[in-house]
Amino acid sequence: MKYIIVTGGVMSGLGKGITTASIGRNLKNKGYKVTAIKIDPYINIDAGTMSPFQHGEVYVLKDGGEVDLDLGNYERFLDTELTREHNLTTGKVYESVISKERRGEYLGKTVQIIPHITNEIKDRIRKVAAKSGADICLIEVGGTVGDIESMPFLEAVRQMHREEPKENIAFVHVTLVPMDSQADQKTKPTQHSVKELRELGLKPHVIVTRCKEPLLESTVSKISLFCDVSEKAVISAHDAMDIYEVPLMIEKEGLNEYLMNHLGLSSSQTDDSWYKMVDRMHKLKGVVKIGIVGKYTNLEDSYLSISASIKHAAIECGVNYDVCWINAESFEEYPGEIADLTEYDGILVPGGFGERGTEGKIKAIQFARENDIPYLGLCLGMQLSVIEFARNVAGLENANSTEFDEDTPYPVIDLLPEQENVTDMGATMRLGDYDADLRKGSLAERIYGQSRIVERHRHRYEVNPNFVEKIESHGMIFSGKNRNRMEIAEIPGKKFFFGSQFHPEFRSRPGKPSPPFKAFVQAMIDRRA
Ligand code: GLN
Repeated sequence: MKYIIVTGGVMSGLGKGITTASIGRNLKNKGYKVTAIKIDPYINIDAGTMSPFQHGEVYVLKDGGEVDLDLGNYERFLDTELTREHNLTTGKVYESVISKERRGEYLGKTVQIIPHITNEIKDRIRKVAAKSGADICLIEVGGTVGDIESMPFLEAVRQMHREEPKENIAFVHVTLVPMDSQADQKTKPTQHSVKELRELGLKPHVIVTRCKEPLLESTVSKISLFCDVSEKAVISAHDAMDIYEVPLMIEKEGLNEYLMNHLGLSSSQTDDSWYKMVDRMHKLKGVVKIGIVGKYTNLEDSYLSISASIKHAAIECGVNYDVCWINAESFEEYPGEIADLTEYDGILVPGGFGERGTEGKIKAIQFARENDIPYLGLCLGMQLSVIEFARNVAGLENANSTEFDEDTPYPVIDLLPEQENVTDMGATMRLGDYDADLRKGSLAERIYGQSRIVERHRHRYEVNPNFVEKIESHGMIFSGKNRNRMEIAEIPGKKFFFGSQFHPEFRSRPGKPSPPFKAFVQAMIDRRA
């Protein structure tokens, strides 16, 4: 097993995740099987309880793992499926060490960070890497070198470096090279963060520098000299037009070649599907305008996979896209603003929790339905479309979800009996992969091109089976089902009106867009024509 360990210096938010994913993609293009592990040094067991305001979207894996959004980047760049073990947190590590201690597995020893915590970290990394059957395992250490919380993880990878054959491990350090007011490229922050790494006994083999403009030769030699890496190993990762160009950029900069040499890899194979996808991305014609009506609208990271899915669909449909984030609450405060939605070619309501903004979202869905604007509803967006239809078409006045109104006369969205009375925040949700059977002749079956699908879930509430007949008799149909659970709602006869209880955005990939997103974008193009 070859390990590539990516650390970060100077500050967070430098694009370490994208750098890691891009390195992985380039090696995959060479024919290697690549997997990736994200280390998040926070104490939380997983990202399930974290606010998308603070951390960006909670990404959901096939096994139901609720993880950091970087795992989404790995899955998209590597076109793979990961599991919850691929996200290592301080919480998970301590939880298992403490329960081993309680079971007496440490045979009376004092349990310490070194060796017990560090052994647990190394064991977990090696097990996940082996289980994945990969040739190369990328390990991204979250946070910035010097953070107290990441110390045990850095110590663990230092030990791995001692234990593994030298040609099996490469350390890549991502830093920032800022420019001063004279537009000089400054290397001091990089020097300092490498110094900090060295104090921990780690020496980077490669330094990837984030910078506005390509690194000057003089900057490269300075970093090379002061940080003791070869000039070839100082990689300029200047601002790219689009993150999907980063693999091409770092490949051109020679990062691939350097890493492969270091790791003793010599494949000459090339899979050029990524390059072709980027090429298509440069040739898009026309534009569709999408309005996303949500709650966390001031933070694009909260809906990262949705943006990515729109992008994948647009690239395959050959069209540019313009996404506007609309705060649902403004429709509650200023009802007249709803007419502004006319300017969009399509409206999307994403997933969400809690009552805030739901009435505004329902108004937006009503507007989309009545004006036949293509509509895509994801999870909560599907549930609200059922509520809107129940209220305004099926005559169920004040229909609602019991999540928002316990006393609604028509609980069209409700907890199924088995989900009531569960209070552990980690245990109440239906998470991960479940399949759905699609109705013959439905839009769902047409866009997926098959009669049974698998998609990822993250929800508590369900369409109430007691209202299905009533709603269907008015023209909304549930065309995807998992036994008594309604997975898809659509309105036949509309240009495109589709809601899913699942989150198709987690399975969309560059070059392989999610079918509902592709059909949504295509419907917008057709409506314009
Ligand atoms: N709040 C809704 C539920 O729990 C929808 C969840 C979501 O959109 N992810 O069922």
